[in-house]
Amino acid sequence: NSVVLGIDLGGTKILSAAVDRQGKVLCRDLTPTPVASGHPGVIEAIKESAGRAIGHKPFDTKAVGLAAAGLVESAGGIVHTSPNLPGWTDVSITQELARTFGKPVFIINDAHAAAIGELKYGAGRGCRHFIFITLSTGIGGGLVLDGKIYEGFSGFGGEIGHMVIDDDGPECACGNRGCWEMLASGKALEREARRRIASGEPTSILSYCRPEPERAQIDCLNAKTIHTAAVNGDILALELIKRHAYYVGVGLANIVNIFNPERVIIGGGLSNIGDLLLKPAIEEAARRAFKQPFKGVRFMKAELGADAGVIGAAALAWNHVM
Ligand code: BGC
Ligand code: ZN
Repeated sequence: NSVVLGIDLGGTKILSAAVDRQGKVLCRDLTPTPVASGHPGVIEAIKESAGRAIGHKPFDTKAVGLAAAGLVESAGGIVHTSPNLPGWTDVSITQELARTFGKPVFIINDAHAAAIGELKYGAGRGCRHFIFITLSTGIGGGLVLDGKIYEGFSGFGGEIGHMVIDDDGPECACGNRGCWEMLASGKALEREARRRIASGEPTSILSYCRPEPERAQIDCLNAKTIHTAAVNGDILALELIKRHAYYVGVGLANIVNIFNPERVIIGGGLSNIGDLLLKPAIEEAARRAFKQPFKGVRFMKAELGADAGVIGAAALAWNHVM
């Protein structure tokens, strides 16, 4: 039973999966990214997660495809830098994983991988011009232009999360300030929620958080708990999502104006909030973008959901297997 191992390394979670030649996920493992332990700890966590995903199943693993959040140099197998993986500078990750797995390892940016997944098997099928956006811990982009993923001159193309929305906004780990991901990513939503709860605004959000050992209750909130509170009528949660949608919409307008896409495919954890977030975001984009290109765009949710990255990374690995 031939498979490749697809691994999606994000700022919050690592997903490992065995994927067959048809892009089907046969089994998976999901584990938190131990960001605080730096790249050595994270690489260890990747190895363990991959081990759990494959387990004792009788797979013939041909290769490994790794999708990583950040600026990735595919040819050298290096993560050059990553705003959501602190301390990662020029980390030679594929070499080390190739030694462990005894298989060739190929690396690609996580959003590029997800865009390839959606292009081959998901909401991008048959579409020559679409922009894939992952609204996750950070915001990533995969530009599919003329039917192909656009890598840019050195492979770093599509960093839409770091377009500046507010010139004087919050500082971003990329060195700039007011980047889209500082205003419209999952971590931005959580940051705003914490700030407003800490300032004493009444809300039920914390009652939906699962307490975690050695963490203050307020550190356990995430986009999911904010969403649950909103669905249950919590006023602050609804307000936070509305404000968030506004910033998502501002960025979407820029994307429509710059690329004139046929589709905009939205994935990442925040896309699970669904219409409560996406509808007002698209309305805000409509107010701001040129009417002509906007009229033609279909905004769609990623079809492969959280698997888009591993499926795209696996497709990359399969391309190298005879
Ligand atoms: C990184 C991107 C990545 C995105 C989503 C951003 O902060 O710069 O490379 O695709 O987060 O993980
Ligand atoms: Zn930035």
